[in-house]
Amino acid sequence: DETLSPLVIPTERDVEGTLRPKDLTEFVGQLKVREQLELVLQGAMRRGSPPDHVLLSGPPGLGKTSLAMIIAAELGASLRITSGPALERAGDLAAMLSNLVEGDVLFIDEIHRIARPAEEMLYLAMEDFRVDVVVGKGPGATSIPLDIAPFTLVGATTRSGSLTGPLRDRFGFTGHMEFYTADELDHIIRRSAKILGVDLREDGALEIAGRSRGTPRIANRLLRRVRDFAEVRADGVVDLQVARDALAVYDVDELGLDRLDRAVLGALVRSFGGGPVGVATLAVAVGEEVTTVEEVCEPYLVRAGMLARTPRGRVATDAAWLHLGLQPPTA
Ligand code: ATP
Repeated sequence: DETLSPLVIPTERDVEGTLRPKDLTEFVGQLKVREQLELVLQGAMRRGSPPDHVLLSGPPGLGKTSLAMIIAAELGASLRITSGPALERAGDLAAMLSNLVEGDVLFIDEIHRIARPAEEMLYLAMEDFRVDVVVGKGPGATSIPLDIAPFTLVGATTRSGSLTGPLRDRFGFTGHMEFYTADELDHIIRRSAKILGVDLREDGALEIAGRSRGTPRIANRLLRRVRDFAEVRADGVVDLQVARDALAVYDVDELGLDRLDRAVLGALVRSFGGGPVGVATLAVAVGEEVTTVEEVCEPYLVRAGMLARTPRGRVATDAAWLHLGLQPPTA
């Protein structure tokens, strides 16, 4: 299982490889993060030393992995990729760290899910480029300090709030990734269509962009599904009508909400009278993991103005009721 392997070579993991932006100029949107990051990288390159460790936070599919690859490319460094859940044992991390070459970029996806012993090892590695390898068990155990090559850690997280304070403090820069505007997604979709050789019309691109939940990964995925439809059921050209018909087949509505988004809103409204209800209860009602509801569905529903997170639980807004074709309860 690739997500559980401590070391994954980028090309194996990178199924969307051809669509990934290769450098900062190809990376659409995220102007703030890009500007900040460029300064961090250029400052370090001028000094000829590895840049500070970088944390990228934001919902899935907004380009954190792409950005980590770009950071390595801009620095002319190699990228090593792993993920928090893969680093269950501190030994796995020690092995990775001791194999790093000076200047390497180590990317840890889902860094908030790293196990405690590995996290503690990371503190020392990030700060002093050193690991303490514990040999033996019990009272006879000794720890052997081992120098490692200076490297740059790029951590990605969908929940920066669940990072422990000590870990968060060791990152010199945090980039907060935002959902993309329809214009930016339109740009990304047109670029992807060119790479994939899809005959995409302007109105078709805009329609897909508007339904991509502010997320490039979804935009690229919808483009590929619409292309299938265009090739199988039409003449291969992706225009407004083809995009609409295709997205109807895939249950993507006008706002880009998918089956799970609508299930969450539907349960909230129909089973819990619009809330407030706890996220765990809501997750059970739709048969999903709490983390999926929290990290994948909710950020976009909140941003779309459909759902509010309150201290007492999740609440559906009037817009949610109306979107489901229901009358909101009168106050
Ligand atoms: P996760 O953390 O869930 O792995 P992610 O945030 O790392 O997601 P990526 O895998 O980097 O997301 O991006 C998903 C896809 O979206 C990429 O294959 C890339 O083609 C596209 N993409 C992401 N951001 C951009 C961007 N700014 N410009 C162009 N394409 C982008």
